[in-house]
Amino acid sequence: VQAVFRSNLSHLLELMGSGKESLIFMKKRTKRFTAQWALAAQRLAQKLGGVRRDQKQILVHIGFLTEESGDVFSPRVLKGGPLGEMVQWADILAALYVLGHGLRITVSLKELQSNLGVPPGRGNCPLTMPLPFDLIYTDYHGLQQMKQHMGLSFRKYRCRIRVIDTFGTEPAYNHEEYATLHGYRTNWGYWNLNPKQFMTMFPHTPDNSFMGFVSEELNETEKQLIKDGKASKMAVVYGKEANIWKLQGKEKFLSILNKYMEIHGTVYYESQRPPEVPAFVKNHGLLPQPEFQQLLRKAKLFIGFGFPYEGPAPLEAIANGCVFLQSRFSPPHSSLNHEFFRGKPTSREVFSQHPYAENFIGKPHVWTVDYNNSEEFEAAIQAIMTTQVDPYLPYEYTCEGMLERIHAYIQHQDFCAAPGPAPPGTRAPQSPFILAPNATHLEWARNASLAPGAWPPAHSLRAWLAAAGRACTDACLDHGLICEPSFFPFLNSQDAFQKLQVPCDGIESEMNHLYPAFAQPGQECFLQKEPLLFSCAGSSTKYRRLCPCRDFRKGQVALCQDCL
Ligand code: UDP
Repeated sequence: VQAVFRSNLSHLLELMGSGKESLIFMKKRTKRFTAQWALAAQRLAQKLGGVRRDQKQILVHIGFLTEESGDVFSPRVLKGGPLGEMVQWADILAALYVLGHGLRITVSLKELQSNLGVPPGRGNCPLTMPLPFDLIYTDYHGLQQMKQHMGLSFRKYRCRIRVIDTFGTEPAYNHEEYATLHGYRTNWGYWNLNPKQFMTMFPHTPDNSFMGFVSEELNETEKQLIKDGKASKMAVVYGKEANIWKLQGKEKFLSILNKYMEIHGTVYYESQRPPEVPAFVKNHGLLPQPEFQQLLRKAKLFIGFGFPYEGPAPLEAIANGCVFLQSRFSPPHSSLNHEFFRGKPTSREVFSQHPYAENFIGKPHVWTVDYNNSEEFEAAIQAIMTTQVDPYLPYEYTCEGMLERIHAYIQHQDFCAAPGPAPPGTRAPQSPFILAPNATHLEWARNASLAPGAWPPAHSLRAWLAAAGRACTDACLDHGLICEPSFFPFLNSQDAFQKLQVPCDGIESEMNHLYPAFAQPGQECFLQKEPLLFSCAGSSTKYRRLCPCRDFRKGQVALCQDCL
């Protein structure tokens, strides 16, 4: 069956059910975005032309909203608790629905069981039963519940699951045996899924798929209106919970900011003003999303105090013409030194409150400065006050961008198919690689045979030998490219090292998330023995990693040029 774009979301709103505060928040958001989704669908339909899109039957099980996992978020929706997850789930539902797929939504274990066809009273069905869904979107909580209640079907159908995972799961933490042996064991990892089955809120590591969410897109008239209506001396503080104001040393930079601007906050409070928030701050309390947007439209500056990490709000602020000012973290925050990241299955080092804003947007919209350096901070405020900025939203965060990306994933990502490329170590009869004219990297020969249906298409592969200590994530970015883990199998051969003229004294195949790589002491080349451990993330000064990179579409880092 062909999928047909939908522009009327009222049936989706019914499917979303009711009752919980979290669902109410999500439905309001979906309603508010209806016109934007419809327009985006129209544009994408035009862009794709007559391309065939298969309609999938999709189950969305939002595990963190189930009573069985404690549902800690719903009671906090009106109290300044995290809303980012709900923003993202609302947008995922809308995108899947607008793309025209068959949708079921569950937010309790009971509904999950009945949709999976688990017979009543049989908590754990030992038989494999046919699964009526092509795809299941869930989160770590939901994954656990499915494992417990699907019996053998879980093993059989796990390749159909997609895990919405805000901060990402790196391959080293995902592989159970490897994680256990090498100290990568966390509260979350070790599911042995294909790392691309984890879908993140921002493009953290390309080992996972970037799912994202959307922010409001303005037309030219609205942009002009906003620019004309800006109060140049108005700042809004990022953060809904009072404890972000407990930051050490904030008095200093707050008093500097207060010299130049009127400071507004949207900190939740019950009856009286939260004591953490200084008297000179105009606190509006937690605002409904549309009113929060209105506040951003007036403000010149949106300022972060270092927490929360990587939420939607800074993108909304920038989309509404604010400058986002945030602190640089030195040393960077990570699971090794910060409570928030402890136990999360990632080795990522976070160099500012919102790395995406810093690295993908940057000046003039985003300023990342050292808050402990009063001169630097004050100079930034002064510069910001005299800079004119246009509202800006990266394409990948528009409704069209999200639809385009999810469309591509649904039509092309297949983790159930038997692994394609030859096993590591075996040599292709004819090398598919050519050494680039300047001898710096490998390219995929245009006439080399492609694995049929391989996606992304192999001809976008560019392979580099990274410097010692450099992760493939960064090595590819250094060349204006992005690491593409699905190309690792093509590279994992003696042939690739040979073509790159790497002087391997010996060659061995082992389990190590940094392989394939060249170890300088000993001049040894190492191949990857375990395909699940192919990883863009990760580095060691011992190794020069062999890195598969690819190009990407402007404003849509998840997709290569020829990926649509
Ligand atoms: N938000 C809101 N009212 C406010 C402040 C923020 O509704 O007073 C919304 C905002 O529009 C954003 C969402 O809260 O979409 C989540 O924002 P944040 O970046 O703070 O992420 P979180 O930490 O909540 O996940």
